[in-house]
Amino acid sequence: MDDAVNFGGIGVVIGHELTHGFDDQGRKYDPVGNLRDWWTPEDGKEFEHRADCTASEYSNFVSVKDDKGEVKLNGRLTLGENTADNGGLKLAYMALMHMIGNTPVKPIDGYTAAQRFFLAYGQIWCQNVTDQQARKLVLIDPHSPGRWRVNGAVQNSAAFQEAFGCKAGQPMVAENACRVW
Ligand SMILES: [Zn+2]
Repeated sequence: MDDAVNFGGIGVVIGHELTHGFDDQGRKYDPVGNLRDWWTPEDGKEFEHRADCTASEYSNFVSVKDDKGEVKLNGRLTLGENTADNGGLKLAYMALMHMIGNTPVKPIDGYTAAQRFFLAYGQIWCQNVTDQQARKLVLIDPHSPGRWRVNGAVQNSAAFQEAFGCKAGQPMVAENACRVW
């Protein structure tokens, strides 16, 4: 596919994996893999503060709503993965913009490169799951459901809002956007 789609797909996944080295678990290991806190106290404190924002944000997202009631995500269980999704999306977008530089890129199928990047990101997490399975996954899966891996990350992304002309108050614009990276 074109660069925008590749960066929005596998590019975001690569960015996601890189940030795991510095997430709520990865950051506790030093460069040689030993469990040792090597961060300055200020950086650690700021990280915790920003991670708390992400944890609360995702804890408000609803995974299942049916006749058995509503189940929200566990923002602590999914914190590392959500941080990686948000950070990976940002890294891959920066990489795409770096690659494009000043070269004009023609829209494809009526979408700009930036829009195609985010459309590809949405498509990699397409999934279909029964309510029963979704209820189970909320308890055991450190990844958020596909819907929130996408909508959770893009509503924190200024680049997404710019690409699609979203304005404050619209569904994909978080009121208090969380940002660890
Ligand atoms: Zn991950």
